[in-house]
Amino acid sequence: MEILVLVLVICGIIASSLGSRKGIATSSFFLGLILGPLGIFLVYLSKGKTGKCPYCNKLIFQSLKICPHCEKEITSIK
Ligand SMILES: [Zn+2]
Repeated sequence: MEILVLVLVICGIIASSLGSRKGIATSSFFLGLILGPLGIFLVYLSKGKTGKCPYCNKLIFQSLKICPHCEKEITSIK
């Protein structure tokens, strides 16, 4: 039983590190914690919170401060 809990916590940590790149670290952690490997898979598939860069109009993650495409500072996302 303890091993199962340990595995789920590890899954939560892996999921949250994946999700942090998409701006959904906290919810990703719980997905991994509850669903285990399936949660990691769901986070992996998730597009996260995305928006469009106001300068180059490309899809970026809302958590980013600087656009990875045009390297301009993001103040507001469309
Ligand atoms: Zn841009």
